[in-house]
Amino acid sequence: MSPAPDPLLFDKVVNLCKRRGFVFPSAEIYGGFRSTYDYGPVGVLLLRNVKEEWWRSMVQLRHDIVGLDAAILSPPSIWEASGHLQNFTDPLVDCRSCRERFRLDKLDDPNECPNCHAKGSFTDARHFNLMFKTYAGPVEGKGAEVYLRPETAQGMFVNFKNVLETSRKRPPFGIAQIGKSFRNEITTGNFVFRTREFEQMEMEYFVPPDEAGKWYEYWRNERLQWYVDLGIPKDLLRLRAHDEEELSHYSAATSDVEFLFPWGWDELEGIANRTDYDLRQHAEASGESLDYFDQALGERYVPYVIEPAAGATRTAMAFLMAAYDEEEVAREGQGQGEGRTVLRFHHRIAPYKVAVLPLSRKPELQEPANEVLGMLQPHYMCDYDETQAIGRRYRRQDELGTPYCVTIDFDTLDDRAVTVRDRDSMAQDRVPIDALLDHLGPKLS
Ligand code: ATP
Repeated sequence: MSPAPDPLLFDKVVNLCKRRGFVFPSAEIYGGFRSTYDYGPVGVLLLRNVKEEWWRSMVQLRHDIVGLDAAILSPPSIWEASGHLQNFTDPLVDCRSCRERFRLDKLDDPNECPNCHAKGSFTDARHFNLMFKTYAGPVEGKGAEVYLRPETAQGMFVNFKNVLETSRKRPPFGIAQIGKSFRNEITTGNFVFRTREFEQMEMEYFVPPDEAGKWYEYWRNERLQWYVDLGIPKDLLRLRAHDEEELSHYSAATSDVEFLFPWGWDELEGIANRTDYDLRQHAEASGESLDYFDQALGERYVPYVIEPAAGATRTAMAFLMAAYDEEEVAREGQGQGEGRTVLRFHHRIAPYKVAVLPLSRKPELQEPANEVLGMLQPHYMCDYDETQAIGRRYRRQDELGTPYCVTIDFDTLDDRAVTVRDRDSMAQDRVPIDALLDHLGPKLS
């Protein structure tokens, strides 16, 4: 059985994100913009680590997947062929009573307005297209329209031929991309869970049509395991297959990796069998052939595509929620009880790996502290903090999820050793400066 979500967790994490510099509401000094967020000094590190881990597992550690970075602005022809202009819509209803707007398929009760609680007050649903349109060049109007991509996937489909011809890959092979996508969501909310500007991590895996089922299963399992390997407890994750009516216009089968958020199970990532839909559509619309000739088999076919599509920003939020913990501990150095908040991130996800903390701001401690920092920085993202009592600095690093603190004290001047404090156990080891890299290496590899 999965643990019941903590109803207070959401507010605790959102407050911590603001307080410690993970995430700020966009344009806050102007009252906030509501549908977007900015990632602060620690949040940007977290987000980069999420993307880096995805890239490492998808591209660096494999020989069958290559990367791509395609443009965000794109001509209508792409979205006409992909079906997005026609189908990328959500059902929009207005409440006649309070005039709020909602996405019908996300309402708990489709007959009751969650804002004013009026019953039967909704208009008929209309299809609201989620794509952001703008104009390229100095003249606004017909012929100058372009779209901000609502998914990164089409960049991979329209470059299929380019990649095939230049990378020497053949099916089964994949193209991976990380980047911003934009959707004019009817309602945003739940912090960075649903925003109008967000980052995706998508991979299109091109396979012989008769192998699509096998690869769909393979990627479902691989992708679930990725979250587990990076420290999200198994009982906070599940795979959920879509019903027939839930499937997107291009999909033959889809499963979501879901995370148990404070409001219940919700999507982190979709793994879809997109069939040969996209390549066929683009081949037909562009006149370019997007099939593949398998020389060994003497066969020509349009590959099927298995797509794991994850959200980087949404996933960063799940890592935050899963890592958040509170506990009663003895006050370090003083034997008194106190509460501490700690983000128990996997070290690969943690924004800072090591914090270097000279016990005081005395100049004689700054020299060895700078030496230690300079030794660690080429290997690890480090924080450096020399103000406040050491206990408070440890608490701050706990709230940032920093796995190790290295303290330089007055004994360091005699023994050239430092104290290494472990975030989770709070255990402290005395380690010679010259052995520090060897000490941390296996723990942070
Ligand atoms: P939903 O049903 O929640 O609107 P979706 O099924 O349309 O999402 P996909 O098109 O499968 O989402 O997008 C792949 C991933 O991109 C999602 O699993 C999610 O992690 C991320 N994503 C999609 N829309 C948003 C958004 N508005 N804000 C943040 N992340 C998003």
